[in-house]
Amino acid sequence: MTQPGTSPPGREPHLPLRERARLHWGDAVLIVIGLAAVAGFARVAGLSLIAFGLNRLVHHGMHLLWMAPLGSMLVAGLVGGLVWLLGWPIKWLRRPSVFVASIMAVTATSLALDISGLHRISAILLGLGVGVGAARIVARAPEQSIRICRRLALVASFALFASVLAMTIGSRWLEAWRAKGRPLPGPEAPNILLVILDTVRSMSLSTYGHGVPTSPALDQLAASGTRFWNAYAPAPWTTPSHASVMTGRWPFELGLDWKHGLDRTHPTLAQVLTEAGYATAGFTANFTNTSISSGIARGFTHYEDYSPSFWNVLRATAIGERITSSHGVLRVLGMNMYPGRKRSPAVTAEFLRWLDRQSGRPFFVFLNYFDAHDPYEAPPEVEARFQVRRDLVRHNLGLLGWVDWDAAQVAEQRRAYEAAIAYQDSQLQALFDGLRQRGKLENSLVIVTSDHGEEFFEHGLMFHGLSLYRPALQVPLILTGRGIPAGMTVGVPASTRSIARTVLGRVPGVDPSRFAGVDLLQLASDSGGRIHEPVFSSVDPELNTPAEFPVHHGPLYSVLYRGYRYIVDRRGVEELYALDDPAERTNLASSPDHAAALAELRERLREALRR
Ligand SMILES: [Zn+2]
Repeated sequence: MTQPGTSPPGREPHLPLRERARLHWGDAVLIVIGLAAVAGFARVAGLSLIAFGLNRLVHHGMHLLWMAPLGSMLVAGLVGGLVWLLGWPIKWLRRPSVFVASIMAVTATSLALDISGLHRISAILLGLGVGVGAARIVARAPEQSIRICRRLALVASFALFASVLAMTIGSRWLEAWRAKGRPLPGPEAPNILLVILDTVRSMSLSTYGHGVPTSPALDQLAASGTRFWNAYAPAPWTTPSHASVMTGRWPFELGLDWKHGLDRTHPTLAQVLTEAGYATAGFTANFTNTSISSGIARGFTHYEDYSPSFWNVLRATAIGERITSSHGVLRVLGMNMYPGRKRSPAVTAEFLRWLDRQSGRPFFVFLNYFDAHDPYEAPPEVEARFQVRRDLVRHNLGLLGWVDWDAAQVAEQRRAYEAAIAYQDSQLQALFDGLRQRGKLENSLVIVTSDHGEEFFEHGLMFHGLSLYRPALQVPLILTGRGIPAGMTVGVPASTRSIARTVLGRVPGVDPSRFAGVDLLQLASDSGGRIHEPVFSSVDPELNTPAEFPVHHGPLYSVLYRGYRYIVDRRGVEELYALDDPAERTNLASSPDHAAALAELRERLREALRR
């Protein structure tokens, strides 16, 4: 058998063995560029097929088009650099066959990590196999192989450059071109600003009676508008809750779950407002769960999720994705989960930059702020105000890293959470100031809410997505704008799924009945109690969780109606709580005194699921 890079000199006498066996550094660079870029573009093609063909959540944005090849070059460049350095003492590492093999092995391993169900050890073995195969080919024809790599590098560089152009200048041109044929709404059409504060439960806000001053900006907003005291999110985690807000449909009508995003069945608020002539844009800090591939962006003419950054370039490779989401690796590196997370000022800056480019049309803008999501991290001065002991706040916990916490540890996390909320609240003020300076606040309908709450062991659970208890679902909901009563508090239960219908009720020339739900402002003025809408929430089973977690026995459904909350799981285990038991301590499901209420709520759920 011929050894890599050492084919008998007699076979190709015109190429001296020594020259052929040592790679020039320039060719090494071109090999990295060419092979890594091809792997990066292959990843873009594969993930696009999975996201748009199969509607599976892949957690990537449009910039993947150039970030994947660039990230691939970064990872392959690191491996190539290491091999090159080691080639100083170990000469044979710089043979073309060995160098190409190392780059092929790392890029193929990275691609194989995307294969669903393939264990990472198998992916590495597959990558090594590809590397060995490549070594054999290159050993047989080193000059020809290097020539191919040089050409690949040239084509790949051009494609990468074209991708960057397409995602910057090209997409802006496309937006402007698409806007040309659209109607221009009249001057009475308001701007609409929908702010979703990720992971903010109402019970931790001073605006909703919490004794700690966590939300002075929201307090002010509530004083100038209408606040819904009993607002519930349709789901205890990001993607279905956002999808419900955007479509007005309950999550169980949308067919999405932990692995599938929002499909094209139901129109979105952004779609309808774009058709009505609005300039529509979304800027999200929860880029994983509200990325373009999640379907939440459908209908927006402009959307920013994974903004260009070092960490997102790294995340654009499968290896980088594993590193940046591995609790163990991040702990070793001394980093928190979500390295390079997008903070509120970045979201606001993206929005205002976009706004400054607009003219003539009212806007519909969706913002997602993510500072209150774990890991809870506020600037030191804010944490000092909340007496947060940074050394006691735990990160990179994994699924079960918190189950044995005592009350003191939970209290420490909660303080850090409240500090994070307060920091985010201060950034809301910056947002409103930015709009006021531009003269855009006066004619704006502003809606501030959250996609779900957070649990701090009220029912033995931490974080969210695990149950349908009140802390995971009850969220702020505040509306301000022209014609909206100031300083009003509405106690009637409401769902954030009604936001779409409410918004369309304020836009001239659009039929709000295209969206389900109730008009929240009609609900607010319904002093006679004529509007009765059961408020549903649900979550699909997450079978990777322990059987003690309610979500394991999902789908879980809850109904809030006529003074009670009813929760039921797949096994038929029922819970019934009176609304005047806000801690949800006493399960009334087996109490004969509440049998009629139980039967009524059961029936409301059955009816909704039948539809
Ligand atoms: Zn969320």
